Amino acid sequence: MDEGSPTYRDQFAIPTFKSLGITHSDFADDDLSIYFCGNSLGLMPQATPKAIEEELKAWHARAVEAHFNHPNDNHWVDIDLPLLPLTAPLVGAKENEVAVMGSLTANLNALLVSFYKPKGSKTKILFEKHAFPSDYYAFLNLVKIYGYDESHLIQIAPKEGDTYLKTKDIIAAIEHHKDALALVCFPGIQYYTGQWFDIATITKAGHDAGAVVGWDLAHAVGNVPLELHAWNVDFAVWCNYKYLNSGPGAMAGIFVHENHTKENSSESFPPRLAGWWGNNASDRFKMLEKFDPIQSALSYRQSNPSVLDVVAVKTSYQLVAAAGGVTTLRQKSLALTQHLWDLLVQSPYYNATSSPWFKILTPEDPAERGAQLSVLFGPHSDDPAHDTMEQVFQYLHDHAIICDERRPNVIRLAPTPLYNTFREVEIVVQRVNEALDAIARKHS
Ligand SMILES: *Cc1c(COP(=O)(O)O)cnc(C)c1O
Repeated sequence: MDEGSPTYRDQFAIPTFKSLGITHSDFADDDLSIYFCGNSLGLMPQATPKAIEEELKAWHARAVEAHFNHPNDNHWVDIDLPLLPLTAPLVGAKENEVAVMGSLTANLNALLVSFYKPKGSKTKILFEKHAFPSDYYAFLNLVKIYGYDESHLIQIAPKEGDTYLKTKDIIAAIEHHKDALALVCFPGIQYYTGQWFDIATITKAGHDAGAVVGWDLAHAVGNVPLELHAWNVDFAVWCNYKYLNSGPGAMAGIFVHENHTKENSSESFPPRLAGWWGNNASDRFKMLEKFDPIQSALSYRQSNPSVLDVVAVKTSYQLVAAAGGVTTLRQKSLALTQHLWDLLVQSPYYNATSSPWFKILTPEDPAERGAQLSVLFGPHSDDPAHDTMEQVFQYLHDHAIICDERRPNVIRLAPTPLYNTFREVEIVVQRVNEALDAIARKHS
């Protein structure tokens, strides 16, 4: 299949057999790996080290003075502000609705504290069974702060026989629990199954039930087009190190709908975890005992930003913008992931009734998924000889195919449009089939 739309592959550092510490008699040390793990940690843009080095030089040259008098006019005091026009289109927001700050879970906690307002019978949080653990811990400890227990968490699971949650079942659950709901919070894309939730429809259902609706976009941002403003989402959080390639643990992002930060709005200025960086910038250095929040999502910033982080995030955002933004990348992404789907389902092991076999947990409809397909392997047992997933994963890794395993038996494959190719998709499926052939031979 032809590589089609432009690839920004050259702009990324792609690990080699040697750099990964893998040796294989069929490959040379400098042969490239196939990196299908951008859903977990994106590759490093080639431009990132220089961007960070520039700030180290500024620190070296001017120290504290670089806050207001930076050698490249990149004054640290406002270094994150030029990121707002790059951030807003990633999530379909107005510039006053986004901020680059903190880290994902810390931001989730900060926004939960601000937006969870239990009142009367409406005290519960509705979310998914099998949520990412960090999110579960945040929800659980939030209700505990109010003196409640687990009974204030309503978790919904796929129906018997389904591998993912159907929108109509989510809506039905929201309606069913209407009188008890304070907050609805889902992931944009489910980390384990790869399901892309219908954000617009679920948000509307939550609002119709009188609940606040927030989203964790860790696996959605940079992966699928988002329209948070138009969808009336109350708040959202995400990280920048997965599909956005900003580096391990990089600074994260938040969205707060402008309805919640505009002056004179009835919902304006909900109490929040606050700090000096959320205060009106013109008063910030007067050291007053008066919190006068900026009338935008920036008011949720607590601390001055990590400069080295901000420039790494900026470099990666600029790459996405240069590639035409997420809407353009999504065209290639749809084709790449469809190619992966089509080749996987042609495998003799797909949905096979004999062993070994695999199936795909991710929805078939491209409108319900992003780049990632989650493949479940069987049989699985405590006998390592039958541990199909582990053996396939090891075989792929021996061939420098980097993806990730979710025990007990899932491998997540995420071809990303910025640096993966159709040819790589073909090689990955070929290797999966080879690994399964070897297992089949062993047991025949
Ligand atoms: C990746 C991910 C996290 C990670 O949280 P950090 O605070 O960045 O460590 C949390 N939640 C979800 C849903 C994720 O996908």
